[in-house]
Amino acid sequence: MPSTSHHAYDPSNIFARILRGEIPNKTVLETTHTLAFHDIHPQAPIHVLVIPKGPYVTFDHFAAEASAEELTDFHRTAASVCAMLGVAPGEGYRAITNAGAHGMQEVPHYHLHILGGKVMGRMLGHG
Ligand code: 5GP
Repeated sequence: MPSTSHHAYDPSNIFARILRGEIPNKTVLETTHTLAFHDIHPQAPIHVLVIPKGPYVTFDHFAAEASAEELTDFHRTAASVCAMLGVAPGEGYRAITNAGAHGMQEVPHYHLHILGGKVMGRMLGHG
């Protein structure tokens, strides 16, 4: 990654460990640049995380610095996951990504949450 990035990637984060095969995951789909797997603490009947394999911390980091190949692979994989999960076409889903302290991001490796299987409620909770 460019050394000029202000996004300092911590390779000890839990998703980096999953990508290195150090801890198991329930894989939905894996491609050259992308992994999709079930969230360990699902917050809806369907709760899948889509992550790039590259060392990106947040959505904006990935969007700004990933290669065109990585960007395309990630989004095509996310679309395939939506189809595999039956949410699109289907009853729909919510895609969320949290970044940094105000976003209350817990794992500092970019991930897209895909949630579905029920009506998800309004976009933002309170508290
Ligand atoms: P964040 O708050 O960073 O947007 O979301 C992190 C997500 O990662 C949470 O939904 C949490 O349940 C999930 N998670 C944390 N550790 C693990 C793990 O070891 N395996 C899996 N599959 N999900 C995890």
